Amino acid sequence: MQIAAVVVAAGRGIRALGTGSVPKQYVSLAGVSVLRRTLDRLIEHRQIAAVQVVIHPSDVALYEAATHGFEGPLLPKVVGGDTRQASVLAGLDALAPFEPDRVLIHDAARPFVDLDLIGRVLAGLDHHVGAIPALRVADTLKRAEANGCIAATVAREGLWRAQTPQGFHFKAIRDAHRKAIAEGVLDLTDDAAVAERYGLAVALVEGSERNRKLTTAEDLIVAERELAGGVIPDVRTGTGFDVHRFAEGDHVWLGGVRIPHTQRLDGHSDADVALHAVTDALLGAIGDGDIGQHFPPSDPQWKGAASHIFLEDAARRVRARGGRIGNVDLTILCEAPRIGPHRDAMRSAIASMLGIDVDRVGVKATTTEQLGFTGRKEGIAAMATATVVLPGL
Ligand code: MG
Repeated sequence: MQIAAVVVAAGRGIRALGTGSVPKQYVSLAGVSVLRRTLDRLIEHRQIAAVQVVIHPSDVALYEAATHGFEGPLLPKVVGGDTRQASVLAGLDALAPFEPDRVLIHDAARPFVDLDLIGRVLAGLDHHVGAIPALRVADTLKRAEANGCIAATVAREGLWRAQTPQGFHFKAIRDAHRKAIAEGVLDLTDDAAVAERYGLAVALVEGSERNRKLTTAEDLIVAERELAGGVIPDVRTGTGFDVHRFAEGDHVWLGGVRIPHTQRLDGHSDADVALHAVTDALLGAIGDGDIGQHFPPSDPQWKGAASHIFLEDAARRVRARGGRIGNVDLTILCEAPRIGPHRDAMRSAIASMLGIDVDRVGVKATTTEQLGFTGRKEGIAAMATATVVLPGL
């Protein structure tokens, strides 16, 4: 066998990612596990004749699920040891009967490795016992003191960041790993460090920024976005404002709720000032005119109309653009009636008109300290904002 690969998937990187109980190499990235993506990338390289994954003993079920139906030269899994070095050696030992000439040792959590990079590492092995992909350090480096202040600036000349897959002549790296463990040296963080320790020449070849190790929750989010084609959601906001005057009556409609009151609100429709403000906020978010444009007061068919018609129409316009409503937030300005007792009923009514969860609807109220027309109880004002997420840019 010419070339084999060891994929190290025995780590327990759980906490940093906030992924509950699933180690990062098994987390789903746009529907496909990180490990599966890594394996797919490796076997794309036709020269790799066998892939040996090393797993943690607790992850058997996760591994089986991640590799289910995988078509490629995958050897039966082996269980790793207590340290990264022990896990790599377990993988190398499992490959030994196949007598590979060269081996690539790769982190399972680097699913964006590409054919060109693998090719550069393998080419490096034509002239050296080891070759690893690496990137020049571009940032200025600081050494910190225990108190978090800078102790020194470290010269970055000649410094590189090591990536994987790291390639080696098989026998040489296996011997080096065995020696290190036999000597009780267990704190080496990559395979090149094992090789260096025993005097093997390891060349640096050009790495790739895309070939990063998924470590944090943010890494996962960025990776998902990349896999979605680099689409950035088109998030819009809109605002709405409306006023209706009081007239003689015995109830008002506010936020889709009928509230007994000593007066009614006057208007062409049911004069639900709150729903009108939310409707305009949604229309504003998609740049689609305002409520008066779509439902002219001059048109007799809207006389006395229930205002949910207007709001539901605005929601339809959002959906017709392929959009989703992120949230709406409403503030009602009046001295009376009291809004608090009706707040949740309004939130539920608006949420159901918009087809969104109630926790995406805010309803707030304030008096204006008896100032202005609302303070003099001449009418009610309402203002709203809405967030709409349209298909990505
Ligand atoms: Mg109005």
